[in-house]
Amino acid sequence: MSSNSDFSRRKFLKAGVAVVAAAPVAALVGGGTAFAAERLKEDDPQAKSMKYVHDASESDEAGEGETCKNCALYTGDRDADWGSCSIFGGKEVNIDGWCNSWAKAD
Ligand code: SF4
Repeated sequence: MSSNSDFSRRKFLKAGVAVVAAAPVAALVGGGTAFAAERLKEDDPQAKSMKYVHDASESDEAGEGETCKNCALYTGDRDADWGSCSIFGGKEVNIDGWCNSWAKAD
């Protein structure tokens, strides 16, 4: 009798350990999705104040060849279509975009 309940308790404890061990992994995976960066909208008040556009060729003020991709303030993956910018916090900018804070990357 007690061996049966010992067996069940061991199974229960093992299952519990597995759940506890998996929780941080699930949190990381889930957290990556939950905190996926939001894309900056052109009508965002800060974007408007800095004359941000998704396509630098649509700006009258962007210099020839100036885009987020070659801006020193761009902190995202330069091979991606969208990435983070130190000016716009957690929001992603388009790699072909531009704003009036553009600064040449080294
Ligand atoms: S600061 Fe640079 S990377 Fe950020 S939006 Fe302006 S041009 Fe693009």
